[in-house]
Amino acid sequence: MTPHVRRVYGGRNWFNSSVHAIMDGVPADRDPRDVVCDLAQEMVARARALGWSGPPFDPVQLANIESIRVRPSDGPMESDALIRALADGSLEIVWNQDTPSTRRNFSVCHELGHTLFPDAYEVVRHRSARRHNPDDELERLCDAAAAEILMPREEFVRDLTDLDLDAAAISTIARRYAASPEATARRIATLSERSCAAVLLTLRLKLTEERRGKQRTLALGGRGMVGPDPKLRVDYTIPSISFGLHFPEHKSIPDDSCVYEALHGGSTSAVETWSTGKTEVRLAVHALSIPADAEGRLRALALVVRPRAHG
Ligand SMILES: [Zn+2]
Repeated sequence: MTPHVRRVYGGRNWFNSSVHAIMDGVPADRDPRDVVCDLAQEMVARARALGWSGPPFDPVQLANIESIRVRPSDGPMESDALIRALADGSLEIVWNQDTPSTRRNFSVCHELGHTLFPDAYEVVRHRSARRHNPDDELERLCDAAAAEILMPREEFVRDLTDLDLDAAAISTIARRYAASPEATARRIATLSERSCAAVLLTLRLKLTEERRGKQRTLALGGRGMVGPDPKLRVDYTIPSISFGLHFPEHKSIPDDSCVYEALHGGSTSAVETWSTGKTEVRLAVHALSIPADAEGRLRALALVVRPRAHG
């Protein structure tokens, strides 16, 4: 295994060579995420000057403005989309013909994010569910760029101020921007001035329970598995700037949370007390079901909002 070169930008370690390339000549105290978002906003501004508008913002039109071809795949693909250099030196984005349109839009924007990096022409990148370090760093930055492109902050912030923060708002904005509810909730948490967070939850066992369960199943010759019930557990938390709390990965939420009711479709809301593991916090919880993961486990999205301080 080749050792990865470590560089420090914005006070954090970065190992990915594409990140090193985009930070070349940029002051090292800047966060690469801000640098990438600035470049994505510049791409948006260039396109706007040529009449690109929305919402919804059409990423295929933007790609064409950037002289990048976009087409559906001819057959099944392992990833949602990929970008590659053609023989004539131009770039082409191919999206998986089997993915729903909202995911396709985000994926095309994600691939456009790759073109912000100086070495985009040298490296073919796949967007897939299997993400490994240090490519993770790059993939997350391209997701950040994708959000800037599909949901430009100017319009998005304006739309956000007109709506209450709840499940209906996620659906309304997602439709308006032709984005998935998940990408929309993340964008809301990233840009909202309210104290809120987007939390993605999957109905699953603890990793240790899963291992024990497999051992037990083997011991029983594959017959009936008796063990703990799966719970809704945190996959990730995207907090707003003022939220100030973090629900760690794998943490479960209360057994009687309204999010369980949303699992089989629709949306629910309730005021609940959640724990971060260190502290308890009272929250307005707005939950929305989203498609199951690749293993068929049920998932939900929760937009959690801290009550406004009374003054
Ligand atoms: Zn990618």
